Amino acid sequence: MAGHSGRAIATLMKWLKPKGTTPETPKGERPLWFTRSLLTSALRAGGCVVCAALAVSERRFLHSFLYEGMMSAMVRQKFLDGGGFCLRHFWMAKEIEDECWPTGGIGMAILCEDLVRQVQVQMSQREASDSRKRSREPRSPRLGRDCMFCVDLRQKEESLIEALEEISEEPSFARRFTADRFCARHGELAGERWHRVTRRNWASELVQCHLAELAGDLREFIRKHDYQHRHEQPGREHDVVLRAIAFLIGPKPTIQREKS
Ligand SMILES: [Zn+2]
Ligand SMILES: [Zn+2]
Repeated sequence: MAGHSGRAIATLMKWLKPKGTTPETPKGERPLWFTRSLLTSALRAGGCVVCAALAVSERRFLHSFLYEGMMSAMVRQKFLDGGGFCLRHFWMAKEIEDECWPTGGIGMAILCEDLVRQVQVQMSQREASDSRKRSREPRSPRLGRDCMFCVDLRQKEESLIEALEEISEEPSFARRFTADRFCARHGELAGERWHRVTRRNWASELVQCHLAELAGDLREFIRKHDYQHRHEQPGREHDVVLRAIAFLIGPKPTIQREKS
């Protein structure tokens, strides 16, 4: 299957490590060239650079898991121990399977079978336990509670923010990093995690600039909605609601094909 990635496999492999041991890609040791390449590609995608890079990583990891990771008993167990997929990743995985295996994939059926069996076992155990104990237990199985794809996203987010402090100092990168390249969350994270005041100020100025732009465009959008101004031609404010939502909470969670 095209799009198979050794890096994604390396990500999957770290799930094979038993708890308490050093992960294969410890924090801070992710090669900068890899992160640079991810961030540079994300710069071409538009919107928040960190969100765009995470969307690519998220898809790679899910694809790799469906392609072969899930066939490893240890990875599959790790998946089940986390309660399977969360809502977001369950539907994304299904979409990826439909897209990449158009003649029909079996992966999601196998995973669903595992999860259905897990729910059956949990329900049987609950039925068998006494009523006093049962009252203290959750009413339904906590599916997706520790989704390994969510955990991976959080770790990648940290490493991308960390690397961005260094990479954003490079003039060729910084020149292309316009005000709209941070969403609210990642602008805030840069302000919290970055070590150098000059870099924090740079990020803060960009976010302030973007906020002022959004506020102005929203004002204009609302003004033109008034019947007295509806005859005016739409301008740059025409898509401000989508831009504002993307800034406030992140891009629409749809599958993004890798461009590389
Ligand atoms: Zn973002
Ligand atoms: Zn998830």
